[in-house]
Amino acid sequence: MILHARLASNVVRKALFPKIPSVPGLKFSSRALATARSERLSINGREVSIPTGLFIDGKFVAAQGGDMFDTEDPATGKPLFSVAEGREEDVQIAVKAARHTFQTWKDTDPTYRAALLNKLADLMEKNADDLIAIECADTGKTPRQCSSLDLPGSIGTLRYYAGWADKINGLTSFNIPGTFSYTKREPVGVCGQIIPWNFPLLMFVWKIAPALATGNTVVIKSAEATPLSALKVCELIQEAGFPAGAVNLVSGYGKTVGSAIAHHMDVDKLAFTGSTATGRAVLKASAMSNLKKVTLELGGKSPNIVFPDADLEKAVEWSAWGINMNFGQTCHAGTRIYVHEDIYEKFLETYTTRMRAIKVGAPFEQGVDQGPQNSRMQYDKILGYIKAGVDEGATVHLGGKPIETTNGGYYIQPTIFTDVKPHMKIMREEIFGPVVTITKFKDESSVIEHANDTTYGLAAAVHTKDYERAVRVTGALRAGTTWVNMYNFVHWSIPFGGYKESGLGRECGEAVLENYTQTKAVYLNMGMSAPK
Ligand code: NAD
Ligand code: MN
Repeated sequence: MILHARLASNVVRKALFPKIPSVPGLKFSSRALATARSERLSINGREVSIPTGLFIDGKFVAAQGGDMFDTEDPATGKPLFSVAEGREEDVQIAVKAARHTFQTWKDTDPTYRAALLNKLADLMEKNADDLIAIECADTGKTPRQCSSLDLPGSIGTLRYYAGWADKINGLTSFNIPGTFSYTKREPVGVCGQIIPWNFPLLMFVWKIAPALATGNTVVIKSAEATPLSALKVCELIQEAGFPAGAVNLVSGYGKTVGSAIAHHMDVDKLAFTGSTATGRAVLKASAMSNLKKVTLELGGKSPNIVFPDADLEKAVEWSAWGINMNFGQTCHAGTRIYVHEDIYEKFLETYTTRMRAIKVGAPFEQGVDQGPQNSRMQYDKILGYIKAGVDEGATVHLGGKPIETTNGGYYIQPTIFTDVKPHMKIMREEIFGPVVTITKFKDESSVIEHANDTTYGLAAAVHTKDYERAVRVTGALRAGTTWVNMYNFVHWSIPFGGYKESGLGRECGEAVLENYTQTKAVYLNMGMSAPK
């Protein structure tokens, strides 16, 4: 209690956590600091201010090369905002800052780290409207989704790991005669973190919260398509009073910034979320450099199975959410729907009616369920998959076309394919858009076989009222997250991650703490003689 009361005071905070001397040899020019000021952006009538610099050693600074890049507005396809573009030399500086701060941060009182994480959560609550506006403008998400899912998920994650900070203990053992031994859970060090564009705010927090709680420092790269919310959160990190260098953000591209982080000889751990192809590249980069510990959260092609005894209306609702959440741009989206032949026609009819009712439109328009896809590249990729489905002989049962608007933007009709065969591209590859396949099945064993016929293993769902079947089938599905009578529900307190080529390691829950700590064993001699 006393400690907490003292933490509230800035004066005493300094006493508890002495100011870290600045990184030796690291000095930003006044020009680099001045050109990285915040700029205003008007979003749906709301004026927000967003930093434009890289966030290194507690300051917003211009990139060493002075470059900037644009993020576009997916609702129009036009440039939205311009931010500093980092490169390898900026990563070098950020890693130096993170390494320097790590030496002090690792030994701080965990209560202090928890207080800072909670302070950041408070500031995110206070700035909720700005964060939602920024996230929706940059990604195309609807404010409804962002305010009920992305933002509360981020704040909940911060508070959850704040709670863990002072509960991470080792073991002691007196059981071995002649010794006393114990283990310590030490932070890993400087953590490189690379995140995708589909949940920029949530992924940023999923990454930094457990790393900081356990005493690590961070060099993080946002996705080039969606750099804005991370910059805003860094402003709040600064305001919360985190020591300079605890979190460093280098916005920029994968080939430059991402690759520099993955290959860096002084980055101890790499946490990556993104596609399986890039996941392989960063794992290889670790192998070719310093064997930094790598965790990977990758793609998916998740099955969603509806048995004949399921509550049909509810199964339709959850299966619709299984693809509608984030307009299909969700790693655990339920893209392969399998329906038992006895209810296939009825399910297809009800599901089609449900999908037809989805309102597609601009993110800030009233009542919109589905906004634009995130980028031109993603839009073209999804339309390419729809074409592949048609070319390979599947039937477009609903949708299948882009939606033209007078403002431009990347809108695609909710799309249902039927008559899909297991070898088809749309059945095997991650589409990452509002596209599902619906396939009829006869019996449990065959549907399990089809469901598992994928290189991915991120998620899977079963709809049935028979609990024995629910337990048996979820047990047989090779996926890291399984649902019964629901879909797309992920909570920060439950481990999340992939089987097979969907990833390595887990995020969320207690499980992720394993990734951000390493165990040190200490043996004390209590009278043992040296062997002769
Ligand atoms: P991506 O792999 O193209 O990019 C992810 C990140 O990696 C970006 O920041 C990118 O700049 C960076 N990057 C690209 N090339 C790199 C390289 N050579 N070295 C280092 N970094 C590099 O993925 P994306 O298109 O941004 O995101 C969509 C993918 O992410 C989908 O496959 C989706 O399933 C997956 N995803 C997975 C999870 C999960 O938790 N499993 C969550 C969200 C998204
Ligand atoms: Mn954008």
